[in-house]
Amino acid sequence: MSGIRSSNTKPEILTRKALHRLGYRFRLDSRVGKIKPDVVLRRHRVAVFIHGCYWHQHTGCKLAYSDRRYSDKWKKKFLDNKQRDQRVLSQLKEEGWRVAVVWECTTRRNSEFQGAIKGLDEFIQTGVSWYFETCYRES
Ligand SMILES: [Zn+2]
Repeated sequence: MSGIRSSNTKPEILTRKALHRLGYRFRLDSRVGKIKPDVVLRRHRVAVFIHGCYWHQHTGCKLAYSDRRYSDKWKKKFLDNKQRDQRVLSQLKEEGWRVAVVWECTTRRNSEFQGAIKGLDEFIQTGVSWYFETCYRES
């Protein structure tokens, strides 16, 4: 997992700061078993992932398709990433965790980012659904 992730990308820093401002407290580098979400809110049993749209191939997102000259090797790599993301999500769900995904593209413009964080905050607080993402696009 560490191969494709640098731990302090701009979207991660922005999201952690925003959560902190809302009063959430968390340690960096927390784990849930072998899984390393970007933010772990243990009290709420919520794991937050901040996904780069390119690496995680955000469906329908223009940042995901900025490089049109994929080789087959990259296509396979992206497919592997997606499948691993799915496995991680189901595993967390089975263990009673709720999962939020903050997409990189929603952190770029401040107005959109504020909306995304508001949605995330509501998701954490209400506890109704088990999954939330900041930008849902139809495939
Ligand atoms: Zn995106």
